[in-house]
This record gives sequence, structure tokens and C-alpha cells, in this order.
Amino acid sequence: MPTGCGDGRIGTGIRAVDGRIADNWLVSTPDEPILSYLTDMDGVLVHEDHLVPGADKFLAELRGNEIPFLVLTNNSIRTPRDLQARLRHTGLDIPEEAIWTSALATATFLNDQRPNGTAYVVGESGLTTALHEIGYVLTDSDPDYVVLGETRTYSFEAITTAIRLVDRGARFIATNPDATGPSREGLLPATGSVAALITRATGKEPYYVGKPNPLMMRSALRRIGAHSQSTVMIGDRMDTDIVSGLEAGMRTVLVTTGISTRESVEQFPYRPTLVVDSVADLVGRTDKPFA
Ligand SMILES: [Mg+2]
Repeated sequence: MPTGCGDGRIGTGIRAVDGRIADNWLVSTPDEPILSYLTDMDGVLVHEDHLVPGADKFLAELRGNEIPFLVLTNNSIRTPRDLQARLRHTGLDIPEEAIWTSALATATFLNDQRPNGTAYVVGESGLTTALHEIGYVLTDSDPDYVVLGETRTYSFEAITTAIRLVDRGARFIATNPDATGPSREGLLPATGSVAALITRATGKEPYYVGKPNPLMMRSALRRIGAHSQSTVMIGDRMDTDIVSGLEAGMRTVLVTTGISTRESVEQFPYRPTLVVDSVADLVGRTDKPFA
């Protein structure tokens, strides 16, 4: 008698798929050992061009103990190589392969959805390089997608082209929903603000791949071959890092070196597994952060 795939064990929590253990976010596994880390970059490891004290020791411990990790950023302007150079300036030595941007997550998503497709891109080298690397052709002639990323050099012409292509049916994707970004002089308009301009003109909302979409976490986990139940997500924002870590099935650590404060945690309908003042507080216990 054929049994198909239903073996009557639904609800056992963990199921083996192709010999690997698949994620099941409904199952809480508080005692699962920590095997890997995802960590946000800005507000956790660095503040713009300055090191968060102790972040270097935290990363050194992960590398010393051979704990796989990825450093995440929603900013799609730079390639991992450019980011690596910038981080080295602050005193952080992070391999290029350990950096995961919303541009890479977007390219991974598009490669899964529509391999070898075409896109009209409004963005910088972080995004165009990522799309080239998955074999996408960048064109303004009837593209499959309009892909919007972070840029500091918006042109009216490029936005007009994007609007016309979306209006004619190109699918609208944006790397991250952030409305603003920080700078020394004050706020900068970010991808979400420019997306609003295109949306206002076309009536079409983009699909955002970056945080808080847990898709960004899922692709990061796959990148290092990690599983959500044995991975910790560290972030400084409740409404992006913590919620997307939670929704991707990870345990989460909020650090208060960035945006969210200890006091603000109670205002959210969800909470992190742990709140610490800084990643420096995890040094010496990266293998058991919740013990
Ligand atoms: Mg941050």
C-alpha cells in the first residue's frame, strides 16, 4: 500500500528531509546548543565608522571557536568586498564571505524565483554586482523586474524609467523598506522613501526582501548551512532584527548599543530571548549565551 509522504507523524516537530533536519518554527527548543550566529552590523558591531567596544573580541571568539557566523546589513549600496574594507578601517577583520547584504538576499531570491532573468536596476554597485553574479541581464527593455536599492544619486530620469516599466507590468522589488538612514549631518532618504515615490505614481507596492522580511534570515541561514533552531540572531532593532529573527525561528539577542532601548522592549508584542548592553557581554559565553 502506497504511503506517500503522509506517515501520520505530523506534529512530531522535527522531520528529516533528505537526511537533514528541517526547521519547524512551531517548536521551541530553548536548550538547543548554539552552533551559529547571525548578527546585524550597524548599531551592533559598528556605529558608522566606529567600532562598538568589544565587538572585535566577540568576533574573534566566534572565529577562534570555529562558530559559523554572518554579518547582516539591510543597506544594499556596497558589495561585501567594499564593506570588508570599511570594516577593516574600524578595526574589524571580517572575511568577505561572512557579509550578507539585502542586495545578496535580493539576488538569491530572484535567482530562485526566475533564474537568468532581466531587471532594470535603480541602485549602486552592491546591487548591480549581486545581480550580475547570478547571471541577470540589466536592461530597460521590457525587464522581468524593476529592482530598487539604496543609492545616493537618484536621477529623475532613472525614476521615470522605473515608473514606466512598473506601470507596464515589470514586477517591483526593493532591497529594503528602511525609510531613512543615518548620516553625520542628519537623516538621509533611504530605499523605502524612493519606493514610496514609485508606488505613488504607479499604485504598485514593491516586494521588500530585506529585514524585517524573514526571507533575509532564511537565505542567510542557507548561505552558512545553519539551522534556525541552533542559530542566534543579534540585533539592535526590535522592529527589524528581533522580529525577523523570531519569525525565521531563531533565538534572538537585543543589544542596546543601537536604536532600541531596554525600556522599549515591553512596548512590543514580542520579545527577544535575551537583552544585553553590548555584544561585548557575550564574550566568554558564545557557546552558551542563554545559560
Ligand atoms: Mg542595526
